[in-house]
Amino acid sequence: MSEAKSEKAKKFPLLPLRDVIIFPHMVVPLFVGREKSIAALEEAAKNDNELFLVTQKDASVLNPDRDDIYDIGTVVNIIQMLRLPDNTVKVLIEGKYRARIKNFTAAPSGYWVEVDKCQSKEGDPVQLEAVIRSIKNIFEQYVKLNKRIPPELLMSISSITDPSRLADIIVAHLSMKIHEKQEILEAIEIDKRLQLLLEKMQGEIEIINVERRIRTRVKTQMERSQKEYYLNEQMNAIQRELGQKDDGKTELQELEDRLEAKKMPEEARERTRKEIRKLKSMSPMSAEATVVRNYVDWMLALPWFEYTVDDNSLKHAKDILEEQHYGLKEVKERMLEYLAVRTLVKEEGKGTILCLAGPPGVGKTSVAHSLAESLGRKFVRISLGGVRDESEIRGHRRTYVGAMPGKIIAALKKAGTSNPVILFDEIDKMSSDFRGDPASAMLEVLDPEQNKCFSDHYIELEYDLSKVMFIMTANDLSNVPAPLRDRMEIIKVPGYTPNEKLQIGKGYLVKKAVKNNGLHDYDMNISDVTLMHVIRDYTKESGVRELERLLNTIARKIATEVVTENIAKGEKFIVAPKHLKKYLGPQKYDRTDVERDPQVGLVNGLAWTAVGGELLNIEVVTVPGNGKIQITGKLGEVMQESAKAALSYVRSISGRLGIDPTWYDKNDIHIHVPEGATPKDGPSAGVTMVTALASAVTGIKVFQDVAMTGEVTIRGRVLPIGGLKEKMLAAKQAGIKTIIIPSKNEKDLSEIPNDIKVGLKIVPCEMVEEVLRHALNLSQPDSFMKVVGLKVVSNEDTKLEVAN
Ligand code: ADP
Repeated sequence: MSEAKSEKAKKFPLLPLRDVIIFPHMVVPLFVGREKSIAALEEAAKNDNELFLVTQKDASVLNPDRDDIYDIGTVVNIIQMLRLPDNTVKVLIEGKYRARIKNFTAAPSGYWVEVDKCQSKEGDPVQLEAVIRSIKNIFEQYVKLNKRIPPELLMSISSITDPSRLADIIVAHLSMKIHEKQEILEAIEIDKRLQLLLEKMQGEIEIINVERRIRTRVKTQMERSQKEYYLNEQMNAIQRELGQKDDGKTELQELEDRLEAKKMPEEARERTRKEIRKLKSMSPMSAEATVVRNYVDWMLALPWFEYTVDDNSLKHAKDILEEQHYGLKEVKERMLEYLAVRTLVKEEGKGTILCLAGPPGVGKTSVAHSLAESLGRKFVRISLGGVRDESEIRGHRRTYVGAMPGKIIAALKKAGTSNPVILFDEIDKMSSDFRGDPASAMLEVLDPEQNKCFSDHYIELEYDLSKVMFIMTANDLSNVPAPLRDRMEIIKVPGYTPNEKLQIGKGYLVKKAVKNNGLHDYDMNISDVTLMHVIRDYTKESGVRELERLLNTIARKIATEVVTENIAKGEKFIVAPKHLKKYLGPQKYDRTDVERDPQVGLVNGLAWTAVGGELLNIEVVTVPGNGKIQITGKLGEVMQESAKAALSYVRSISGRLGIDPTWYDKNDIHIHVPEGATPKDGPSAGVTMVTALASAVTGIKVFQDVAMTGEVTIRGRVLPIGGLKEKMLAAKQAGIKTIIIPSKNEKDLSEIPNDIKVGLKIVPCEMVEEVLRHALNLSQPDSFMKVVGLKVVSNEDTKLEVAN
């Protein structure tokens, strides 16, 4: 190569190439047609058979000038030349080396150039070797992907060690644009050339891979849709063959037939007809058609003029109510009265709406169901718990995706008649938010003036609800919106005493459990004692829902025994208290959880919650401070106020309690109602607060087997409260011996079953001082001195003990 460096520029005839680039070492045939080019070949033949080939920048130029050709080309050797009959020449040439144009002359006979041979510097051998290897590797991949390159080429390439030669041979086989190839030709330095080649090849492989992926994806997609089409066609053919399908016509025909046979208002019929017509012009598979079809189905399924005839026999109603429910004397009476009035006031919709209010599981739903049964009407229950959106009552407009009618229309469809009994369960659990107030929709539903033309957003037609009988249930009436409450006739369903639960269990729930679990052919015997254990040790509820669940659990476990052990029919199963652990697990409630010894500042109050009565402790402590008052335990507003009123009262009687009035400035008072997570409210803890405060400030202990309830005015008068039965029940269950109640509630005692009253000392009080006298342990050594104002009287004065 050093010899080549000293070489002078040489002169060659030039042949401009179109659309092809010749690299050194290449042997290719060329077809030459242009006159000047043929002249160049002839000149070369005279001159060592050598000539210079360079590519035109633009293939369409006929007579290129210096600017129309690239700077670097290849000096070649002519191996063979052949004149063809059409005056063109076929020439076989072999590339020798790269050369750069130095001088360019364009004579009319042809082009001449003076060129310099291009020289490359030696590269770093280690680096070169590395690049060569990767080039060989990548080229191998390329050959595998590109079907046009003969694989034998790989063999010949593997033996090449000269990097320059290798690059030139490979590049000649790549499919690249002319300017890209020229770029490689112009890369004189060998390492640069190899690098460029590597990049180009990698890019090319990437493109080929992407192309391949696209091709396969398109192919599988096409195959799939072809397959589906083919199968669908086949299915159609089969259906036609079986006579199931008459090109989709019968289905629509069937809808039309159903429409004609259906009793419905003309307006609704016309509307449905229109929708069926729309359906005809739609592709049955389209989403639109599904929406229309759904609407038509609703219209056809909804009962429009289908009424059951009422059975107005009161005797029949009474029999059914009695047969299906134990006790509930007042509820049954009120129900029958309601029915009687309904029969007399013939005019529909003029009566009020029944609302059964009481804790869960006391039989509200079940009584309503019996009522429907006695009337011979269908019964549907709509749960309103958690309903917060008006559209749940009234439905969604059909423009919504997945729109559906509201709960009322859905209930009518389920009932299948236009005059069912609809029970709105848990109306007090309904709430409202930004999506509209469901209560106002309910008002419209219940108002006899408006419900003749109730409109559901989905159905879009008026529906007459005036023949429907609505019944509601609620756990807590205070949560029912007032306008709704005004429309209702409220029947309170109180909780049951353990004895009543025993009777219900014995007479109804055990039988139901036997039936539900397929044990008719066996004799499942649960004794009264066992039942009472279940009631006391495993449940804590006003109703009997949990009891029913537990009895079902027992029956289910026995059923499992019967099946696994293949027990013969008629076998007797006696469930005794000792078996309960096996069936129901360990005892859940311990009834002896009241603190027995008198305590300072701790009083048993009685609360009434949505699920029944409950013992509610109130604690007060005083600590030296500066007159701060703290009230904790998640108390509602009314209860907080009642705490403040109680404190004012206690302060007002400070003198009589023997407390120095300045004591309050030097001490902080903390009132707490434990079980802080449950919200508590209501005024009926007034007496309890006063007693706890009085005890805390005087240090006189409170009897722990006493419980109390009553609202207090700040002048110390005890006002009546509600939920007496539940409260007394809770007290009894907690093992309380004495219960203090407002005198004004004394009249309610006659309605309380004897089994609650037995063993309970009931103390009615008019003034809160009497409460203190009964609750505080005035025989405590230091108390007589302090409580100068409280006249100590014998507890016997006010005792009202009920004999067994
Ligand atoms: P609620 O609607 O008040 O929550 P349910 O009507 O669902 O209560 O009553 C729960 C279960 O207890 C039902 O199986 C019901 O038949 C039964 N039940 C409740 N009270 C009585 C009763 N007095 N006599 C017979 N079964 C009753």
